[in-house]
Amino acid sequence: MDKAYVKIPQPYNEPVLSYAPGTPEREEVLKTYREMWNSHVEVPLYIDGEPVYTGDTKPIRPPHDHRHVVGVYHRASQDHVRQAIDAALKARQQWADLPWEQRISIFLKAADLISGPYRAKMNAATMINQSKTIHQAEIDAVAELADFWRFNAEYLRRIYTEQPDSAKGVFNRMEYRPLEGFVYAVTPFNFTSIAGNLPTAPAMAGNVVIWKPSVSQMYSANMIMEVLREAGLPPGVINMVSGNAQKITEVVLAHPDFAGLHYTGSTAVFQYLWKTIGQNIDKYKSYPRIVGETGGKDFVWMHASADPREVATALSRGAFEYQGQKCSAASRAYIPKSKWDEVFAILKEQVESMKMGAPDDFSNFITAVISESSFNKLAGYIEKAKRDPEVEIVLGGGYDKSKGYFIEPTVFLTTDPYYETMVEELFGPILTVYLYDDDQWKESLDLVDNTSPYGLTGAIFAKDRYVIDYATKRLENAAGNFYINDKPTGAIVNQQPFGGARASGTNDKAGSMWNLIRWISPRAIKENFNPPKDYRYPYMGE
Ligand code: NAD
Repeated sequence: MDKAYVKIPQPYNEPVLSYAPGTPEREEVLKTYREMWNSHVEVPLYIDGEPVYTGDTKPIRPPHDHRHVVGVYHRASQDHVRQAIDAALKARQQWADLPWEQRISIFLKAADLISGPYRAKMNAATMINQSKTIHQAEIDAVAELADFWRFNAEYLRRIYTEQPDSAKGVFNRMEYRPLEGFVYAVTPFNFTSIAGNLPTAPAMAGNVVIWKPSVSQMYSANMIMEVLREAGLPPGVINMVSGNAQKITEVVLAHPDFAGLHYTGSTAVFQYLWKTIGQNIDKYKSYPRIVGETGGKDFVWMHASADPREVATALSRGAFEYQGQKCSAASRAYIPKSKWDEVFAILKEQVESMKMGAPDDFSNFITAVISESSFNKLAGYIEKAKRDPEVEIVLGGGYDKSKGYFIEPTVFLTTDPYYETMVEELFGPILTVYLYDDDQWKESLDLVDNTSPYGLTGAIFAKDRYVIDYATKRLENAAGNFYINDKPTGAIVNQQPFGGARASGTNDKAGSMWNLIRWISPRAIKENFNPPKDYRYPYMGE
């Protein structure tokens, strides 16, 4: 606004509802789940504000009941991608010129919609399509996404108010322009909130966007577009295209106006995208911004001074919630030998009490993994562990894909700290534990640091303050989100800005000012009230 400094609504973390028996939210989400389960959704592309039904469709099947079909999504051709880019570029100037408080109003309204009238639908779509329990859906599709939109508005305000000093006779200012071109947002299946944040964070900063969701998340992706349209997002600002990732990407990354990549997903795909951008670098009008949050091999390290129950519970939740399909999920643990019996007894009791099944039965803690390929890969690791002498399956190990892609929460115990499941990202409910000699705790921290290429999340458990201090320093680069006496999952927007370095990404911290800064290109403006009228300086006088 050019007639006021606006005070934007105070952002807050959306309260998470309990869905306990007897609550109205429980009734409503179950009713919505059943309605959506028994109807047929058509997910179009969205180009220039309009849904596009291409007729080239694929079914949407719940991972926990893969014979059931809840709808179809339409796939884009390369021509559709070109149309989407044209629409984005056509919308660009008007969107960039819109006063920022007008832009963010749309996303603040969208936050109110998903936490209000759309709450049950956002949750039900995420439960059906991504097999999340109601609690996992609520903290993701509603709470975290609303937090992203409300706090990003506040972060933008902070950026815009960051202004330079002015010497006497001069008026300096900084203008925070969006990038000159369009941003490509590529999102993973595992968080509806990330799918919502990646296209909207650049858009809030005035950019236009091509968004390619994961084909395993199309139902909730469609909900996001419905909400944004209802909130008043103008045509062309975010264009959603889905289908063959490689074909879509080929068109996008060859375009001269490609100005930025906002990616979350596996490391291999990110490296492929970065290489392609590198190969095309002489085609672009500007140097594209590249932001990517990728894989992890997240650790829990226990010192002998820690409480075994706290460690076991952190492992139960950290490794197995959402079937270990969080980038932050605990997947390797280092336990002192003297404490293992105690930790294992509690872990066993907890894991064996976990019920597995469909997410509309609220007593289930574990549901299905996302796809058949993920199921097969995880089952392969389990079968290999049965044969490998350096590993023993001490909990779980069962799997069954007759109805849904179900893998039991599984614990491997290995004598080899470099066993492949201590190193590679599995992205499923498999935790590998290595036991170390209590007096070798410092050496065990070296192992934590050196074993995997990733650096996303990690947790240490200890009561001894000198040990906490030592481990915190020793593991400085092992995790971008580091937890002391807490599980390594569950980061909250504006409380633990999320992201990691090494092979885990560019660590631009989603849902923070640091991320939004990547989507702007500042212009420094100097105005001189008293321009010089001669080139000669006083020192040059006779
Ligand atoms: P994925 O790599 O399979 O897919 C991610 C996205 O990349 C999808 O949109 C997919 O369609 C697209 N893609 C795949 N191949 C492509 C290609 N050749 N060209 C262009 N795009 C392509 O990942 P996923 O299974 O959806 O998600 C799980 C991964 O995401 C895990 O590795 C996890 O650690 C990571 N992740 C990281 C974070 C983080 O913040 N660091 C958060 C969530 C997920």
